[in-house]
Amino acid sequence: MSDPIDRKGLSPRFWERKPLAKLSQKEWEALCDGCGKCCLNKLEDEDSGVVALTRVACRLLDDESCRCAHYDIRHQFVPECIVLRPDNLDSHAYWMPQTCAYRLLWEGKPLYDWHPLISGTAESVHRAGVSVRGWTVSEFETPEEEWEDHIIKEPT
Ligand code: SF4
Ligand code: SF4
Repeated sequence: MSDPIDRKGLSPRFWERKPLAKLSQKEWEALCDGCGKCCLNKLEDEDSGVVALTRVACRLLDDESCRCAHYDIRHQFVPECIVLRPDNLDSHAYWMPQTCAYRLLWEGKPLYDWHPLISGTAESVHRAGVSVRGWTVSEFETPEEEWEDHIIKEPT
């Protein structure tokens, strides 16, 4: 499967040399590894703030490609979908998946070797077993009161 993210022509290891706020739009988007884990529904404990991940996927997630089926017009269907930017990362990084490139860089950590920017192929994310490929359940078929039964440990 081809990588839908255009990672051509980027400076080698640009993320190690530039702060997140200085990245171009193309560099920012290239950081997404395509794991799809941010498109899984979460349950947040109101008292403790602890966030639990579930295998219940957003209605627009295609769990074969691990991509949003209608990314450009997704807010028509899922108005609450977050548009992650350098200036709102402080508010969202805490609930992002542990392997998410944005969260890792926000935490001052390096990217994993399986990241497409390092491996040169989007397939390495799936081979590493850190994507949602093939194991989600649909939001349509899973009522919200049952989400607790689908809490999972994040594949890392
Ligand atoms: S969790 Fe992060 S790296 Fe994975 S798809 Fe979402 S934004 Fe991209
Ligand atoms: S609308 Fe698309 S990008 Fe947003 S959570 Fe759903 S699948 Fe992911």
